[in-house]
Amino acid sequence: MKAKKRKNKPGKIFIISGPSGSGKTTLLTRLIQDKKIAKLLVKSRSVTTRPKRFGERQGKDYFFVSKEEFRRLLKAKKILEWTRYLGYYYGTPKGPVEKLLKAGRHLGLCLDLKGARILKKIYPQNTVTIFVLPPSLDVLKARIEGRCRETNKQEISQRLRLAKKEMSAARQFDYNVLNGDLQVALKDLKKIFLKENSA
Ligand code: ADP
Ligand code: 5GP
Repeated sequence: MKAKKRKNKPGKIFIISGPSGSGKTTLLTRLIQDKKIAKLLVKSRSVTTRPKRFGERQGKDYFFVSKEEFRRLLKAKKILEWTRYLGYYYGTPKGPVEKLLKAGRHLGLCLDLKGARILKKIYPQNTVTIFVLPPSLDVLKARIEGRCRETNKQEISQRLRLAKKEMSAARQFDYNVLNGDLQVALKDLKKIFLKENSA
């Protein structure tokens, strides 16, 4: 399938949700590495109060801010939606979303369930929701542990506990993608994106 440009149509919001460690960030990042898709789809960068993981970069993975700064942005209405996850705040900056949609570009966001629900409510016509499933909870645990050696045991078990709850929401999403083999999952995600792009 070829990536066709959408003339005079507003952009779509592609929300990638699923438990921590299921591979949302990896899949979205790889999707945008496709040159054709990169012209059409932009990854939204959230603001968070979570500490940076090893290898993460300011402004690339997230905008890492203090709690005070996060509250200031909320008060100034610069956050479109936000959530609290394991004690940290995460929010979608409003400005870039509105600007890109108006320009007819698509936006890709990795959000928790609350964020997915809110954005679907704000933009019911042009939001596509995708839930990424891990092949098993054991694989999920190994991925969370392998992603960052600094993540402590308590945080890993909290993320896993939440993951078990989150999995039951998969049915509410427009699409499910099973992320066992990365190349297969990426192919499925590309297919969804190209289909929605030409719709
Ligand atoms: P999420 O954004 O859903 O929390 P990540 O994209 O950070 O998850 O992936 C968690 C870890 O699992 C990362 O270390 C990533 O490299 C790895 N990973 C993602 N998808 C796969 C896959 N299909 N096979 C093996 N490892 C994967
Ligand atoms: P992590 O700490 O693993 O990067 O993210 C924790 C959870 O917060 C993940 O489910 C991630 O998708 C979600 N998340 C990240 N940014 C945002 C955001 O701006 N809004 C919402 N609602 N969830 C977010």
